[in-house]
Amino acid sequence: MAVSVFNLFSIGIGPSSSHTVGPMRAALKFIIKLQNRHLFDKAASVKIDLYGSLALTGKGHSTDIAVLLGLEGEKPEGIDPASVESRITKIRTKNELVLGGVHSIDFNEESDLIFHMDKQLPFHPNGIRFQAFGQDGISLDQQIYYSVGGGFIVDHETAMSGGEMKSDEVQIPFPFKTAEQLLTHCKQQNKSIAELMMTNEKSWRTEPEIKTGLIKIWQVMQKCVERGCRQEGILPGGLNVKRRAAGIYRYLQEQSKLDVSERDPAEIMDWVSLWALAVNEENAAGGRVVTAPTNGAAGLIPSVMHYYEKFVKGASEEGIITFMLTAGAIGILYKEGASISAAEMGCMGEVGVACSMAAAGLAAAQGASNEQIENAAEIGMEHNLGLTCDPIMGLVQIPCIERNTMGANKAINAARLAGLHGDGTHRVSLDQVIATMKQTGHDMMSIYKETSQGGLAVNVPEC
Ligand code: SF4
Repeated sequence: MAVSVFNLFSIGIGPSSSHTVGPMRAALKFIIKLQNRHLFDKAASVKIDLYGSLALTGKGHSTDIAVLLGLEGEKPEGIDPASVESRITKIRTKNELVLGGVHSIDFNEESDLIFHMDKQLPFHPNGIRFQAFGQDGISLDQQIYYSVGGGFIVDHETAMSGGEMKSDEVQIPFPFKTAEQLLTHCKQQNKSIAELMMTNEKSWRTEPEIKTGLIKIWQVMQKCVERGCRQEGILPGGLNVKRRAAGIYRYLQEQSKLDVSERDPAEIMDWVSLWALAVNEENAAGGRVVTAPTNGAAGLIPSVMHYYEKFVKGASEEGIITFMLTAGAIGILYKEGASISAAEMGCMGEVGVACSMAAAGLAAAQGASNEQIENAAEIGMEHNLGLTCDPIMGLVQIPCIERNTMGANKAINAARLAGLHGDGTHRVSLDQVIATMKQTGHDMMSIYKETSQGGLAVNVPEC
């Protein structure tokens, strides 16, 4: 019963982990369920109902597209982002879905895919129901899933029976739900947070597999940054947001040719912003990204990792692995103690959590003690408390893209305050800040929790 670092850092597709990646996984899971129950070949039609936040911001977050492609057998980590547009055009023009990639059925999107803007299912704001019908129109099977943030999904029965949203049933040697438990394990075992995580991760994979897997994820992040730094133009969706990463990259390349005395002392901040922008612009365009721990916040951790690689003396591949394992441990604390779903916590659950994870990861990679790491994570969240989620037009663009640049710079500051200028002693504990985040999220009105019914979403006129 545990969450792995590979659940928190997973290769996927933009623009949203809860509204794109999770629903695609849920749709595929429903298809597999039909196959396991020998109902797949009998299915003559399907109906999909989206509820709560999935309905309210589903169009802007491409939930409809994700669900259709999931029903056609696609996985977030496997689908070619370049093929999405033509695949969807084909479904819509032919009014036909190819279930599991092999079984064609008629599909009328207008009547078979319903956005229930005013309804919510009991367990979570991100609810989705799939139904399959036979030739006679009689229901063969149905299933409700909840997309609970970061691409994690849980079925209705598990959720309502109090089952926890865990990746699997593996027992790890050092389970923890709080920072206090984590630090106690580390002290008793005389291990760093990253070393303890590595021991736990070995419940699923060998150490070489873990290291290779983490480096592969880092390479996907780097490729995403490279692509984002080359792309120009306007992001899709109708908000007419201009891509900025390529222009900033050109500016920074010109700066690097100057004599040190002529260079802008704030240049490092521009690099940090560039890396975050590059990823989040790719995410907004539906490109290949690493969910970290969500897609809306996908640029923050890669940006801080690029900062580590480019600007921290002695940076190494081992440091990257330490960064990711430590950040993963902190992500687990938020998943256990609060939520990484913006529909429950607002943007605290996305950018706030990513900031906290990145601050801890950077501090660890720079050799901070466990207490300094915990302090960095605490600072990273403390100054994101109350952060609302109010994306304009439901698109993961404004405020999301810039917000990752702010969060990345904040994470570096948190790591410096805790690691370079702190000794690990501090007044507010990470557990206290996570409890505060959870309470704040519950008290926050739903208009500020990924519904696009408040904040910027209603005060900035649509184009
Ligand atoms: S405002 Fe924050 S939480 Fe909401 S969609 Fe954007 S990045 Fe995600």
